[in-house]
Amino acid sequence: MFRKLHFKLTAYMGLILIVFMIFIATGIYSFTRIVFEDGNRELMESEAVRVYTYKNVSYSGFTFNGSTFFQRLGPSAALIANQKLDACYVIYDYDDDNIERIFTKENEVAIADTIESIAVKAFEEKKDSFVTKRVGRFNYRIYTKYFNDLNGQSVVQVYQSTVSEEIIWSFLKTVLFVTGISGTAILLAISYMFTGQAIKPIKDTWVRQKAFVADASHELRTPLTVIQTNLDVVLSDEEGTVQENEMWLGNAYSETRVMAKLIDELLILAKADANEEKLDISEFSFSEIVENVCQNMEIIAKKKNVDFQLNLEEDVIIKADYDKIRRLVVILVDNAVKYTEKGKVTVSLYTDKNKKVFAVEDTGIGICKKDIDRIFDRFYRADKARHREGGTGLGLSIAKWIADVHKFSLTVESTINVGSKFTVRM
Ligand code: ADP
Repeated sequence: MFRKLHFKLTAYMGLILIVFMIFIATGIYSFTRIVFEDGNRELMESEAVRVYTYKNVSYSGFTFNGSTFFQRLGPSAALIANQKLDACYVIYDYDDDNIERIFTKENEVAIADTIESIAVKAFEEKKDSFVTKRVGRFNYRIYTKYFNDLNGQSVVQVYQSTVSEEIIWSFLKTVLFVTGISGTAILLAISYMFTGQAIKPIKDTWVRQKAFVADASHELRTPLTVIQTNLDVVLSDEEGTVQENEMWLGNAYSETRVMAKLIDELLILAKADANEEKLDISEFSFSEIVENVCQNMEIIAKKKNVDFQLNLEEDVIIKADYDKIRRLVVILVDNAVKYTEKGKVTVSLYTDKNKKVFAVEDTGIGICKKDIDRIFDRFYRADKARHREGGTGLGLSIAKWIADVHKFSLTVESTINVGSKFTVRM
């Protein structure tokens, strides 16, 4: 399921990447072309003006006795010498209703003929034009500039072949295509990696949730089976009185308590997972909670011949969720008493370098190294404790969650058969 999701996410990402790459590549290509064409247009226009200026110098008229005489000087050598563009020129004048080509390079006459219609149009429309036109085997960029001043009407055509640029354009296209494809491939690989990492917590949560549901069903099933078995015995004894069946009924009853505790803890964790459990923060005396919980636990400890010691600093005030902190204290002290036989449980609350420290130490069964990292996991119970009564394996995971939401640290030090110490630092 997650493999499919992983591929799907990468595919979506890939699609977005491809569209983005196409967008970027065409953007770069078109923008470069537009800027280039614009620059060329400006250059060609100024070149046309320059050519026109030289034309007027080299081909000038003078007036004598009321008539104008034109003197054809021919295009100045400077016209070509000062050429700023690798371009060719055609110059037309408008004389006696005739369009007269007055200059073109000798070997470029054929091209000049082909583009003459553009010059004619410029005379007719009295405006400039800038076109790219196929002449023979090549494309030509043609700037046609129309002049109308004291010297009369003229048109200057500046044109250049785009063949060498086309090589550059097709090279740019190839470069963009290759970098686009390889960039997409690299980004796809990276996105595959990142999507894998992104769905990992979801996958882990899903796996944990599945295990949680399975464990919860299993844990609920056990007391239910015990209840059923005990009630079956009671039901099969048709003649028996309640007193006679007290043991079976007692067993069933104690299992309902286990179930109730389990359901209660499951609900807390379910709410914690759904982030529904809100903190009800208030300021209260932590010392009072510890004292109160320990009063009850001391009785149970005494019954088990466990020595109970309380080292309490008075009036340790904290800001936290009262009910949750009380639950945390109950879980730790209850575990210490539960997992200690004839030993000692020491509960301490003190302030150490601005930190409030709550520690529960016992000389009980201890936790072995392989279990210590897992005791905060849901339903995890160390082997030794597995068969003990009343345990659900959820207490410490709730305690850890309570510590975490309050940003307290909950740590454990333990040695098997020596004892354990759980410390909450606030
Ligand atoms: P349980 O309901 O089984 O006590 P917890 O989540 O409270 O569940 O504890 C998980 C496991 O951690 C226990 O089953 C036990 O193996 C171990 N554990 C917790 N507290 C102690 C302790 N004080 N001494 C030894 N083992 C402990």
